[in-house]
Amino acid sequence: MEKKLNETMLELVIANRILDKENICDAFGHISVRHPLDPEKYIMARSRAPGVIEFGDLMEFYLDGTPINENGQEIYAERHIHGAIFEMRREVNSIVHSHSHSVIPFGVTGVKLKPVFHMGASVGPEVPVWDIRDSFGDTSLLVDNMDQGRDLARFLGERRAVLMRGHGAVVSGKTIKEAVLIAVFMEHNARISMQCLQMGTPQYLSAGEIELGMNKFVGSLAIDRAWDYWSLRTGLKS
Ligand code: MN
Repeated sequence: MEKKLNETMLELVIANRILDKENICDAFGHISVRHPLDPEKYIMARSRAPGVIEFGDLMEFYLDGTPINENGQEIYAERHIHGAIFEMRREVNSIVHSHSHSVIPFGVTGVKLKPVFHMGASVGPEVPVWDIRDSFGDTSLLVDNMDQGRDLARFLGERRAVLMRGHGAVVSGKTIKEAVLIAVFMEHNARISMQCLQMGTPQYLSAGEIELGMNKFVGSLAIDRAWDYWSLRTGLKS
């Protein structure tokens, strides 16, 4: 049992480093995992940039965001994004929240983020925009309480990802590796879409192509191959 917990925590450290190395997170953003031994808890780092997270930075939280062993450490204000989604989506075991640059324009312009190349299908047919202002008026745009987290989780529904207006995005996955892969390819898809929109009118993937791609590129073969490559690039794995 302890071995399972250690493996999950090590994977979460590597995931943090990958999100930094692949330009999904910078000083900000975070990834969590549901506790492998207790589904009513989750694990994420203390308030620190993902690129420098170490094993000892990982902390446990109840789903309502209460830290289990705070020990005076700073904790992420936006952890409620994670707890609220874990509460509502029992099959989701990992969540990425980032401000990855290329997705932000799609949250503020009305231009829809849709798969424009094959790997982009991994996020699904649509990535709608959640606007914190709709329910909460003027805020700092941070999701820093459970009411806001639950509003976001309800909006996410059964989808893999949503954009957050003027802020960033949230990606959910059944595993850490799945959530990382979707977050990386959502960013790539957004960047390529912007390039296409400058050149002309993109020909987006069809509904059928997206359906086939969603399963193929979020399958074990693609996920393991990407993880092998990305984790080696962090320098943590040899
Ligand atoms: Mn944020």
